[in-house]
Amino acid sequence: MTHMHVAGSIHADATTPAPVWLTRPDDVNVLTPKLWSQTTHRAADGVVAVGGVRLTDLAEQVGTPAYVLDEDDFRTRARAWRDAFTGWTVYYAGKSFLCTAVAAWVAEEGLSLDVCSLGELTVALRAGFDPARIGMHGNNKSEAELRLALERGVGRIIVDSADEITRLERLCAELDTTARVMVRVTTGVEAHTHEYIATAHEDQKFGFSISSGQALVALFRCHNSSRLELLGVHSHIGSQIFDTNGFEVAARRTLKLFAQFKEATGLQLAELDLGGGFGIAYTKEDDPATPEDLASGLREIVEHECRGFGLDLPKVSIEPGRAIVGPSGLALYRVGTVKAVDVGAGLSRRYVSVDGGMSDNIRPALYAAEYSATLASRASTAEPVVSRVVGLHCEGGDILVRDEFLPADTRVGDLLAVPASGAYSRSMASNYNHTPRPPVVSVRDGQVRTLVRRETLDDLLALDAGIAENEV
Ligand SMILES: *Cc1c(COP(=O)(O)O)cnc(C)c1O
Repeated sequence: MTHMHVAGSIHADATTPAPVWLTRPDDVNVLTPKLWSQTTHRAADGVVAVGGVRLTDLAEQVGTPAYVLDEDDFRTRARAWRDAFTGWTVYYAGKSFLCTAVAAWVAEEGLSLDVCSLGELTVALRAGFDPARIGMHGNNKSEAELRLALERGVGRIIVDSADEITRLERLCAELDTTARVMVRVTTGVEAHTHEYIATAHEDQKFGFSISSGQALVALFRCHNSSRLELLGVHSHIGSQIFDTNGFEVAARRTLKLFAQFKEATGLQLAELDLGGGFGIAYTKEDDPATPEDLASGLREIVEHECRGFGLDLPKVSIEPGRAIVGPSGLALYRVGTVKAVDVGAGLSRRYVSVDGGMSDNIRPALYAAEYSATLASRASTAEPVVSRVVGLHCEGGDILVRDEFLPADTRVGDLLAVPASGAYSRSMASNYNHTPRPPVVSVRDGQVRTLVRRETLDDLLALDAGIAENEV
């Protein structure tokens, strides 16, 4: 992993020790509310507490590193999305983080659930999640996962290719059943953090392109199939999106497709899914919209476009993952080394190494994602110093928090908390360097509950077939 040139970024940073958005805090102990779950606060003695649990106690109880999920915050956020989008269906995107307990919370809060692999579907079913409220994604679904989805009566399968339609029809015939399907389309809208691009071509692996006509062909094919019940169209434009501009273009292009389908068949498609990708605050720089603002914006967009095309309002759904679980989770690490590194021009950078890294959060290395951190085990009166929080892995790019003000007296044994770590951290974790993956614990009303236990070296060795008698 060397796509970020470490020496290059050091030189660039040497003249500007911190990015422009990272302003020196007046008080390094203050927790910026938008970054933290709603029950997070710093107690009078300086220790950060979440869900009524002091992180020093939690570290003692479950060790570090650990992912900590604020159950009340998760539930509150899930309800906020559900309520803001009343009349629409909100699917929680399980790929952001899923375990049986979280699937149960999602069900209890009245949301539906998206899965995109046999593993995710199995977790959801194990949790007793109503299959009728599950959506099944994936651009290369296996026979095994399609079969399980059909046998258990999954509510909708989002078909992604002509090959998949063939496979699905064959399996439906074999099982003498039918499948409810949405057709995944690419609208040519690609959304990123603070921008979106609307292009004419769609050079990526997902779905059927609208501009080439393939989407309409796929709709006709599903519509004409005796084994498939065509529900509508699905579009997902990207992730960590902060405004509705990209959704507006996507809605216009998908609803134009509705109009074309209606013109050809005389029938209006019943459902439209606008996907997920709603952004959250990882750093002070990020300003996410509330579910209420997004809901009113998206409703207006869909109503406007339907009027324009002379369509009835379809049944609409969305699929937030990160925006629900991201802010509810933090990652807790213990500091192992603190090092000042000379970066030239009389400047130095402070490297704070913790007991986790790219194995428990790949996003900084994978997408150059930015994070924040705070000293969690005590308050400090020391000067804020720009620091880089790095992991223990054998990669120069093993960075967790590229730039953050931490107190100058940050030292070995301190706990650091990284907020907004609930999404795509544990779910993308690896065993790089034979590192056991951290546990996920939830906190609520002063209680700690293990949702996913810590992996052990024995867990890892259990997969190793050994040296003797290893003939196949
Ligand atoms: C990843 C994904 C989502 C969720 O994205 P978030 O950024 O977590 O909201 C929703 N729908 C589809 C199809 C996805 O691939």
